[in-house]
Amino acid sequence: MHIVVGVKWVPNTQAVRFDPHTGTLIREGVPSIVNPHDLHAVELALKLRERYGGRVTAVTMAPPGAVKGLEHIIGMGVDDAVLLSDRKYAGADTLATSYVIASAIKRMGDVDLIVFGQETIDSSTAHVPAQVASWLEAPYIYYVEEVEAIEDNRIRVRRRLEDLVEWYELEMPAVIAVLMHSQKPRPVRLIHKLRAVLEKPVETWSNEILRLDERCVGLKGSPTVVTKITWMPEVPRKQKIFKGEPKEAVNWLIRRLEEEKILPTCGADKCGEGD
Ligand SMILES: Cc1cc2nc3c(=O)[nH]c(=O)nc-3n(C[C@H](O)[C@H](O)[C@H](O)COP(=O)(O)OP(=O)(O)OC[C@H]3O[C@@H](n4cnc5c(N)ncnc54)[C@H](O)[C@@H]3O)c2cc1C
Repeated sequence: MHIVVGVKWVPNTQAVRFDPHTGTLIREGVPSIVNPHDLHAVELALKLRERYGGRVTAVTMAPPGAVKGLEHIIGMGVDDAVLLSDRKYAGADTLATSYVIASAIKRMGDVDLIVFGQETIDSSTAHVPAQVASWLEAPYIYYVEEVEAIEDNRIRVRRRLEDLVEWYELEMPAVIAVLMHSQKPRPVRLIHKLRAVLEKPVETWSNEILRLDERCVGLKGSPTVVTKITWMPEVPRKQKIFKGEPKEAVNWLIRRLEEEKILPTCGADKCGEGD
């Protein structure tokens, strides 16, 4: 079985700042990471390889620096990786992104299952997996919590919604998006990481290899235009901060809770006694 797992190389949003004048992201100097939700997709793909055999290929469309992210994924145990990278792919919206990814999967030829994360932490549209499925004319299920069985070229998946669990059976090749936090991503192992560094299993496919119509990729192939981004004004919080020793802080908190009638009065001085 050949499983492809899609991972995105994203700016670490905790380090991202906004330009207050233009309202756009300041990406310069911001470190990138593998989209954390995609590690759950990688984990599920690796578990399926362990259960059913075959191989796992990671794929990303990104600038050349994303090789580092793919090496991290190989460090988790993925067999090989493909970086789809070309200046012509820059500025892509989700339609153009999914077109390039789907075209690469078609080029691979022998893919049985495509596994994605639920969404990214930077753009968070959750469009890409559905759009890839559409380009490939393949069945698609999202919020997949577990794959229960694969047999006779069919896959049985469990999908979790807030208060509901559903079971689906899909014909392969199929596309699934994995529910965030549903897996326990394994750590990078030195033996795999060494392979990533020594054997260099990451291939780069530019548009010279994929030969896609330039009108369908990058900015030219992107019908969606982000016209404006604004930053929500911070809502002032009713917040009191106490600085001091832990015991004083606890007494202070108890007095506040008593004043607000959240706790019955018990005599704050006594509450602080003992260990
Ligand atoms: C007009 C326009 C211009 C844009 N220009 C840029 C730009 O210059 N630079 C930029 O970074 N973004 C740009 N974007 C954002 C870009 O559309 C998204 O980053 C990208 O298409 C993926 O969408 P998403 O992050 O919402 O992924 P989602 O749909 O939320 O991702 C779901 C899952 O799909 C997979 N996935 C998503 N993206 C990739 C990928 N690239 N490779 C492999 N797997 C993937 C992952 O498994 C992920 O968990 C632009 C958007 C628009 C509308």
